[in-house]
Amino acid sequence: MKLVFCPSCHTVGVKARVERNRCEACGKEARLVRVAYPWQYWLGVGLVFGGAMFLLVPQFVAGLPWEPLVGTLSLRLVWLVPFIGVGLYLTNWAVRVMKDRALERGLELYPEEAKA
Ligand SMILES: [Zn+2]
Repeated sequence: MKLVFCPSCHTVGVKARVERNRCEACGKEARLVRVAYPWQYWLGVGLVFGGAMFLLVPQFVAGLPWEPLVGTLSLRLVWLVPFIGVGLYLTNWAVRVMKDRALERGLELYPEEAKA
């Protein structure tokens, strides 16, 4: 994932790494803006990884303390919903934070073009 800032219309777009840096709003060339991943991103990733471990490891390792909690398919599905739900909520939140920061950075980095 990468963030691009359009100096022409101040739109921040989220793109896949391989996509061209074209503005979604006006079609002009947008600039790549590097923004650090916020804590919401890492927490979301950690939660999804942690959740996957929590659900999968007892199927390979016997005798774990939480094994009865994830012993059946329906129990695993019940756990899956909050893990995925909260994980998606956090990553969406992270993207919003990153877009805000990308807008700030973009305005700092390309002020002349932004005014034009
Ligand atoms: Zn634009």
